[in-house]
Amino acid sequence: MSKFYPVNEPLLDGNEKKYLNECIETGWISSEGPFVKKFEEGMAKLCQREFAVALSSGTSALELAFKALDLKEDDEVIIPGLTIISCSNAVIKAGAKPVFCDIDPVTYCIDPKDLEAKITDKTKAILPVHLYGLACDMDPILVIAKKHNLYIVEDAAEAHGLTYKGKPCGSFGDISIFSFYANKLVSCGEGGMALTNNEVLFSKIKFLKDQAFETQRRFLHNEIGHNMRMTNLQAAVGLAQLERLEEFIEKKKKMAAIYDSYFKDISHVTIAPSKNEYCENIYWIYGLVLESEEQCLLAQKKLKEAKIGSRPFFYPLNKQPVYENMNLNLTNLPITEKIALNGFYIPGGLNLTEEEIHYIGKTVASILKDL
Ligand SMILES: *Cc1c(COP(=O)(O)O)cnc(C)c1O
Repeated sequence: MSKFYPVNEPLLDGNEKKYLNECIETGWISSEGPFVKKFEEGMAKLCQREFAVALSSGTSALELAFKALDLKEDDEVIIPGLTIISCSNAVIKAGAKPVFCDIDPVTYCIDPKDLEAKITDKTKAILPVHLYGLACDMDPILVIAKKHNLYIVEDAAEAHGLTYKGKPCGSFGDISIFSFYANKLVSCGEGGMALTNNEVLFSKIKFLKDQAFETQRRFLHNEIGHNMRMTNLQAAVGLAQLERLEEFIEKKKKMAAIYDSYFKDISHVTIAPSKNEYCENIYWIYGLVLESEEQCLLAQKKLKEAKIGSRPFFYPLNKQPVYENMNLNLTNLPITEKIALNGFYIPGGLNLTEEEIHYIGKTVASILKDL
């Protein structure tokens, strides 16, 4: 009986236990505590940012980012069609409208040309998302944002340690966000962060994450806030993970090189490039794109029978049932829809041994060849 290989498992054998013990021994278990500050400083340094606010999730970070921008009812935010629903929900919860644009067929990240085509006089912000391990092509996006006077909220939830032309992802947005969910490269179970160089936005996010307390009197409020604080326990785990980020990325790249060797010659399988002219893939996940949705579903069914976990790519946001009757302008996005429905990813946990990676690669390749 071979074991089941899940798509991901966190690797927690660094300083996680030691730091958690410190939390317990000192009693600092809530959001007050030294690890929160250390983790914020570590991420700010990684991303060359002045300010960082630790939060309860990547979703909270997106929600507070858009609330901090003070969007109005008719304002539009352009979002790639292939990403997690937190992105567009955050815009809706801030009272504005998401507008979806198509993606690049090779990197699966936002297509700057379609992004520019979707700009109207109502557009206020854009949300580039570094997806699955590759960076968005930031230079044209920065030019477009400047030309049309738009905010950039940069979603780097999957991009810890990724760089674009040598500059860290997470350094490009007016606000940049990260997630530390259990399957992310740096994890603390649940958690997120917002980073910025803008002191006004920084203060606003800090204010909103903590119930919008006024300073002149405790328990006095002029605004509706949230409890989206990260605890010292979460930050303790996050910091221990952050210490090993380089090692984690090296491991992911090695894993991908092994997988590539099994899939690169299968004609009906498309794999992501290991690098391009502006970034090196950090392989947050290892994805495979097939030629049809049926083929993709069949492959996943056969993988399950072979005890190999897999997960489909994100669902196209322009096709989400929840958005159907919300008066959004949902145009077709041919590349998004094709990639989203034909793609899935295979086990990529950091605790897989080289032998296991070869076993999975070989098994998946033989299933794909026989489809
Ligand atoms: C994981 C993820 C998020 C949300 O993070 P949570 O911590 O799960 O709320 C946001 N954006 C992207 C691109 C993600 O992959």
